[in-house]
Amino acid sequence: MTTYIESGSKNIYDIKENLKPKFIYIPIYNNPLVKKGDYVYINDVVVNNNIPIRSSISGYVKGILNLKNINNELENYLVIENDYREQKRNILKIKNDIYSYNKNELLDLLKEYGFNLILNDIDYLIISTIDNNRYTFVQKAILYNNCEIILETIDALINIINISKCFIIVNDRDTYLKKEINKYLGSYLNITLVSIPNIYLTMWNKYLNRYLIKKRIIKKNKKITTCNVEIINYMYRALKFGEFATEKIISLNSNKYGSNVNINVKLYSNLNDLITLFNLNNDISLINGGTLTGSKIKSKNIIITKDITGISFVKNDFKQTTKCINCGLCSKVCPEKLHPKLIMENIDNKCINKMHLDKCINCGLCSYYCPSKIELNEYVKLAKKKITNYEK
Ligand code: SF4
Ligand code: SF4
Repeated sequence: MTTYIESGSKNIYDIKENLKPKFIYIPIYNNPLVKKGDYVYINDVVVNNNIPIRSSISGYVKGILNLKNINNELENYLVIENDYREQKRNILKIKNDIYSYNKNELLDLLKEYGFNLILNDIDYLIISTIDNNRYTFVQKAILYNNCEIILETIDALINIINISKCFIIVNDRDTYLKKEINKYLGSYLNITLVSIPNIYLTMWNKYLNRYLIKKRIIKKNKKITTCNVEIINYMYRALKFGEFATEKIISLNSNKYGSNVNINVKLYSNLNDLITLFNLNNDISLINGGTLTGSKIKSKNIIITKDITGISFVKNDFKQTTKCINCGLCSKVCPEKLHPKLIMENIDNKCINKMHLDKCINCGLCSYYCPSKIELNEYVKLAKKKITNYEK
């Protein structure tokens, strides 16, 4: 039986650290800007994949390695060996007091640091602590452990950019988190804490905003920017210390060990090192994301990039799929009113172009409810890829 730690328990806020990988592996789509033997500092741009990619450690370039990525496709990676000296160069001019930026300085600096959030001219800023997997608690843990500085950063944004209202969204069950936020909230009158029930679809901003409109917390047809706590935390580090993101908190969930751990790692660390560290290497399958929305990973040597939030380790006891019984449940539960069964049946047919696949939010509800245990969301993902190929 799965015995995950549930939201509401205090352990969900713990963050362990593993910030000393021997090597990091940076994905390369274009030619790297460094060569074997070069020394790199933390934050040096080493690859330009249409956006600049920076090293998260200091050390020597060892060469290029071919590894499978999260989508099980082979990709080239630049390997850098850690010298554990954390050598940095000062790149951009920053101010000690984050309130002392003026609007243009602040927006320019955030742009410079790669934040592409729209903050200018918005009515509401919504900061969500809802993770994109029921058993992942990264956003909550970040806020719990950095509450004061995150509230300060939000307050600075509101005041400097002149944003009318800001809401921090938490779940009803997060009592410890609410208590922590309330300790500081008295000093930040423009920030409102909103506690919402544990509704699965509120993991997606679109549905979260819809819920807030329905409950009349925010008004319809207003300009809204929604982001998570992690982004605000990165912003604080950029504005206050001039740091680019070099670390990433991910969640490792194991139903084999009945545990969940948040772990702060260097970006571009190898997952296999963490598996060894947590002794999770027997009889498991790896899922990128949650068990409902995630995809199976075929190699343990995948690299932790910015878009990975959590890895689930599940026992190799996958359910047996049977034939579709035409119950229609997959269409009924789909929040985007798609027809997953039809998509599955027409996967090789060009008519999938007309099935609005772009609307799929990958919530996994179709697969979850299917009585025949068909992995319908995997078919939808495959169909999306095929459409992209047709378009090429
Ligand atoms: S994963 Fe399935 S239920 Fe969810 S939006 Fe996509 S097709 Fe619909
Ligand atoms: S839910 Fe499963 S069994 Fe029912 S129609 Fe969809 S694919 Fe078929």
